Amino acid sequence: MTLLTFRFAPSPNGELHLGHAYSALLNQQMAEQAGGQLLLRIEDIDITRCTPQFEAGIFRDLEWLGLNWERPVRRQSEHFAEYQAVLDRLIAEELVYPAFMSRGEIRAFIAETGGRDWPRDPDGVPLYPPLDKALPARERKRRIADNMPFAWRLDVEAAVARVPGSLSWAEFTDETMSATRAIEAQPQAWGDVIIARRGIPTSYHLAVVVDDALQNVSHVVRGQDLDSATGVQRLLQELLGLPRPRYFHHRLILGPDGRKLSKSFKDTGLAALREAGMSPHDIRRLVGL
Ligand code: GLU
Repeated sequence: MTLLTFRFAPSPNGELHLGHAYSALLNQQMAEQAGGQLLLRIEDIDITRCTPQFEAGIFRDLEWLGLNWERPVRRQSEHFAEYQAVLDRLIAEELVYPAFMSRGEIRAFIAETGGRDWPRDPDGVPLYPPLDKALPARERKRRIADNMPFAWRLDVEAAVARVPGSLSWAEFTDETMSATRAIEAQPQAWGDVIIARRGIPTSYHLAVVVDDALQNVSHVVRGQDLDSATGVQRLLQELLGLPRPRYFHHRLILGPDGRKLSKSFKDTGLAALREAGMSPHDIRRLVGL
């Protein structure tokens, strides 16, 4: 039997907070229950925001919490060549296209075309306008040769049309993993998402699906805020012929104001709580584990 594999995949662009502690500890608990292993993956593709100091803080906080993970740890910034190879496949298959519009241009275009009813993604961001998708190949080449900045975006319609099978995924109904239900992916809700950026041959979605497959991750346990992003990831898995993990999107730990915690919300930072005298046991109790 193959080993069941879970992963906790933080980004070192801020300090870990109670929400991360819950996610990491829940992954550990579920891996233990299943007799599986837990990996730690450092998701640091955003080299402008991720720092070695934040990464060191992640290790310090997780060790203090008593988390055990397999070594070596995969650090995404060390694997750009692998993501580039996968991106090249998507380019060759014409599933991605160069998108040249800046944020300001997108805003202006949407305002001109009637504005208010423009469709938005589940995060509330307006979908990318369809102009660049229709550019003739010659014009694309000219702009790239002229060094115009661009990002690679997924042609989501073409991609969905290319996938013959089901885009659903199996979601555990709770952390006991005794049952799953099928959820139908809706990648179109995100429009033509960014797959790679200038100077970085990947995006969050691409790196996650490539790594989950490379690391044989069988169980993806992460926060509910990533629930609908799973639709895009399922689509990429099918396009690239990658296996389909099972998922559990857990409840989020909310702040005293009832809102999602953020990395800038110092009071619930693990380092601050530790300095205030809390023990790992207190943290478990605070997050309800
Ligand atoms: N790196 C992502 C984050 O920090 C999590 C990615 C995932 O679990 O798929 O929110």
